[in-house]
Amino acid sequence: GYRARSAFKLQQLDEEVGLFGPGNTVVDLGAAPGGWLQVASERVKDNGKVVGVDLQRIRSLDKHNVETIRGDMTEEETKAKLKDIIGEQGADAVVSDMAPNMTGEYSLDHARSIYLAQQAFEVAQELLATGGDFAVKVFDGRDLADFRAEMEGSFQYVRSIRPDASRDSSSEQYLVGKRYLTAPVRSGD
Ligand code: SAM
Repeated sequence: GYRARSAFKLQQLDEEVGLFGPGNTVVDLGAAPGGWLQVASERVKDNGKVVGVDLQRIRSLDKHNVETIRGDMTEEETKAKLKDIIGEQGADAVVSDMAPNMTGEYSLDHARSIYLAQQAFEVAQELLATGGDFAVKVFDGRDLADFRAEMEGSFQYVRSIRPDASRDSSSEQYLVGKRYLTAPVRSGD
């Protein structure tokens, strides 16, 4: 079984837009307790790699293709650690299910969600190889259109998907950027 029901959301995203393949390197932001890590680990197979990051400690999954970091993705130190692990090849996919602690105040929760999504997008821009994919959780609200427009500048196209398992939380959806358009020139390329 999966550690979190959210695993089914990632399965559905992957089925609709194709995020992972065997041998891929995947970054999973906001990965605790590890449902998405389980799904990604299965789909990248033995020759792939999944790196998960969360504020919370992630109980070991006992999968040799999964590595985890405990850290805050809004901090440079965590971004640098992640970059070291991913290395010069870059990532094939960056996925983020990061969510703020909910206050119940719609506009505040929205603003915090977009802030986390922006952090994830920054990381994606640093780590994605050209042609890589990015999926990020966002809550509906007034800054969503601007955020989506920013993403549209960096991907071949962007889709928004509301998985069946998200129905209970009506303001939640995922933006998926397909095929990252430009990657920084890496030394040795
Ligand atoms: N996808 C996960 C799974 O399948 O098990 C569930 C993720 S849960 C919905 C959201 C996670 O985002 C929480 O575990 C939370 O600790 C994490 N999170 C929120 N803000 C974060 C931050 N600044 N840095 C890292 N993780 C963060």
